[in-house]
Amino acid sequence: MQFLGKNLEGIYGERVLIGDELVPATIIISNGKITEIQRHVSGYNFCSSDDSVFNAGNNVVMPGIFDSHVHINEPGRTEWEGFFTATKAALAGGITTIIDMPLNSIPPTTTLENLEVKLKAANGKCHTDLGFWGGVVPGSTDSLKPMINKGVIGFKCFLIHSGVDEFPCVNEDEVDRALNAIKGTGAVLAFHAETDCGSCTTDNADPNQYSSFLASRPDEMELDAIKMVDRLCRKHKNVRCHIVHLSTARALPIISKLKEDGFPITVESCPHYLTLNPQEISDKQTQFKCCPPIRDSNNQNELWNGLKTGVIDMIVSDHSPCTADLKQPGEKNFMEAWGGISSVQFGLSIIWSQAEARGFNIPTLSRWMSQEPARLAGMSNVKGKLDINYDADIVIWNDEETFQVTDDIILYRNKITPYKGKLLKGKVLATILRGQIVYAENNFSNISGRLLVK
Ligand SMILES: [Zn+2]
Repeated sequence: MQFLGKNLEGIYGERVLIGDELVPATIIISNGKITEIQRHVSGYNFCSSDDSVFNAGNNVVMPGIFDSHVHINEPGRTEWEGFFTATKAALAGGITTIIDMPLNSIPPTTTLENLEVKLKAANGKCHTDLGFWGGVVPGSTDSLKPMINKGVIGFKCFLIHSGVDEFPCVNEDEVDRALNAIKGTGAVLAFHAETDCGSCTTDNADPNQYSSFLASRPDEMELDAIKMVDRLCRKHKNVRCHIVHLSTARALPIISKLKEDGFPITVESCPHYLTLNPQEISDKQTQFKCCPPIRDSNNQNELWNGLKTGVIDMIVSDHSPCTADLKQPGEKNFMEAWGGISSVQFGLSIIWSQAEARGFNIPTLSRWMSQEPARLAGMSNVKGKLDINYDADIVIWNDEETFQVTDDIILYRNKITPYKGKLLKGKVLATILRGQIVYAENNFSNISGRLLVK
């Protein structure tokens, strides 16, 4: 592939995403930044040595995908994933920036010292740019500002057991203190919004059946937590709050009202809640297990409606892998298996397959998967858009081509995924990071991702 590794001076094509439309245009790049955008009726007149100018033809040219919710798990649980494999898979899926979650690495990213351990582990291994979330755990209030000064984009907290003992959950008072501590810093507090509300005893249910697991994590658990977020958000008016991986559509009216009243709340959902269905999950198919759970198709339709109306801001992967022995689809039951879904490599295609069928267009998809996550991360002036002075982070993809998810194309470490065998529409052809073609036609260039810290 003649362009692989090249630092481009320009990209042109018939369908370049400028503003909110796909138009014929040339993007001029210098030192990794977009310096000029030339719209043209058709054809191209860029003067340069030709091998530094890429012709995308009729393929889509749009901002690289920005995935603000990925569990890389290194150091400490590198056998679950790791920086090298997660970012390589991401690059093949058109992702140019990842934000790493503060768990399930050991140590978790809950102090500056622990963040430094993570930075050391990540150094030199990242195919994409990589930013970091910190974590709020009991007693961590004094640790937050030093992590902000080092460059974390914000903090994640759990209102229910996180699944790992080294990242304990917090109560309302502890969240209140954390919100006070980050006030005025611009950092965002992200909530795993489920609480243990006591309405979910399923003693006699068959743990092999998905319906039993679903009944054990009812909508009320999310609703109860989101009511707490609502109270805290209204109390701490100017501190940004974010709800990760929304599954229940029944919370949309609460969130909609918060937005209407002008509070800085944002919400994400994930490919699995938007495309998978309990009816396709047979006994012990634990590759479908995640928390909160995948709910029914009426709920799913309402989530898409939430995206349409803007109550849900963005779609991110929540890539949360583990080793095969913790999932064992067909062997372990739903109560025993680890909860988490792996999909970082396929987000664009999974979402496009459904979004197109539901009548959404590519500019809208780009807003959900690039622009809004970049804004959440406080990077909306450098990433998530094709515009002057932005990083030339770009994905070039064919929106008509289909492919099947098979083991041999999966690049993340543990290949268990509910998407196996599925036919997806939308194939990534090349990924460009700060002007350099770092992925093209299944080939990778040198590692050139940066750690987005100070
Ligand atoms: Zn997660």
